[in-house]
Amino acid sequence: MAHTIDYRSLLETAVAEARQGLAEGGIPIGAALFNNDGNLLGCGHNRRIQENDPSVHGETDAFRKAGRQRRYRDTIMVTTLAPCWYCSGLVRQFNIGTVVVGESVNFSGGIDWLRENGVTVIDLHDEECIAMLGDYIAANPEVWNEDIGED
Ligand SMILES: [Zn+2]
Repeated sequence: MAHTIDYRSLLETAVAEARQGLAEGGIPIGAALFNNDGNLLGCGHNRRIQENDPSVHGETDAFRKAGRQRRYRDTIMVTTLAPCWYCSGLVRQFNIGTVVVGESVNFSGGIDWLRENGVTVIDLHDEECIAMLGDYIAANPEVWNEDIGED
């Protein structure tokens, strides 16, 4: 049952993906989709730079890696950073019931909108997630602004 799940342990999978992205020279954001037993369905990370593809966000990568699921209401999207509008739209489109975010300090994305629409959003305020992306943004502000669609 969902309330017995250790969300911090699920976050570790997303953090490992973010670290891998950073090691590849990319933006350190990772995500993972789990079922409500905490079993991993798919995981991935932002590969905008690596693949020159602005559509590969952590969440979309994890979603695609998970393949077709019969329903998403009982799934949990875990991501190191609050989802952007694009990924928040994905959550709503497929009725993903729960979103766990590592942090919303560097970027709060669509989490208020998700909550208003009945999605359970859990913000773990994880110090490693805040520092890893914060350091990246400080060193690469132009890449970051491109990623979130800011001029
Ligand atoms: Zn996104």
